[in-house]
Amino acid sequence: MKDYLLKAITKDGLFRAYAINATNTVAEAQKRHQTTNASSSALGRTIVASLMLSASILEAGQSMTIRIYGKGPVGLILVDANANGDVKGFVQNPQVELPTNDANEVDVGKAVGKDGFMQVIKNLSSDRQPYTSNVHLASGQIGDDFTYYLKQSEQIPSALDVSVLVNANDTIGAAGGYLIQKMPGATDKQVAKVEQRIKKAPKITQLLSEDDQPEKVIDYVFGRENLNYLQKMPVQFKCSCSKKNFGRDIAGLNPKQIKTMIDQDHGASVVCSFCGNRYKYSEDDLKDLLVLSENRIKKNNR
Ligand SMILES: [Zn+2]
Repeated sequence: MKDYLLKAITKDGLFRAYAINATNTVAEAQKRHQTTNASSSALGRTIVASLMLSASILEAGQSMTIRIYGKGPVGLILVDANANGDVKGFVQNPQVELPTNDANEVDVGKAVGKDGFMQVIKNLSSDRQPYTSNVHLASGQIGDDFTYYLKQSEQIPSALDVSVLVNANDTIGAAGGYLIQKMPGATDKQVAKVEQRIKKAPKITQLLSEDDQPEKVIDYVFGRENLNYLQKMPVQFKCSCSKKNFGRDIAGLNPKQIKTMIDQDHGASVVCSFCGNRYKYSEDDLKDLLVLSENRIKKNNR
């Protein structure tokens, strides 16, 4: 089945809800970065949560970068997502392994650590500076951290849960989650009722391990008949890197550095941190880039 993100609103307009199945997306990240269980869970949860966050606060054409650093063994987690359902990301230490519990999950909080921050950089339009905000990590479990961010930085009271199941052979069994947000006008009593229903709802881990759909949670919380499903959007792992783009980076270097690549290394290769794709530059490629670099310097000196 293809990965998707569902957007819904309650018929009274007081709550918004999102559910996501991102199993293939997280599996693609796992394959590209060869991550093992703790790193897969930490990166996978961040990917799932970032897709929901983007869908809930960005508009078409906008994107965001999320950095999570909690001083735990996985190190920095960096994810880029946009409002169209595209996501890419990596984790600094891809091969961290931790024991799993009965639900077949690792302690992600331990893997990420919580002595650190979550940073969100929103690219809202090409003619505006990116908007950056930082919050402390709540628990390093990722779901809690995104919930805390939404409350602190976006002033949107939310409940967000994400889960990634990793098989014994390190492949991804399932990945998904949900996000519920209070809209203006919802009373404390209505919020309390929703909170109670969330507590009793089927667990994401359980749904995913039974190969069931994450939207079951929001159907349970509000009742299917009280929800309007607005949109089903495909989500996917997608990196926009190219040989041309990295070539531009090389041309941005000092001509001396490019000459060294030509004379000593007889070529260069660049690996994209986000997707792991490798691009090779021959001596001839580099000579073309050297001309660009020299022209740039000349122009600047004029
Ligand atoms: Zn890439």
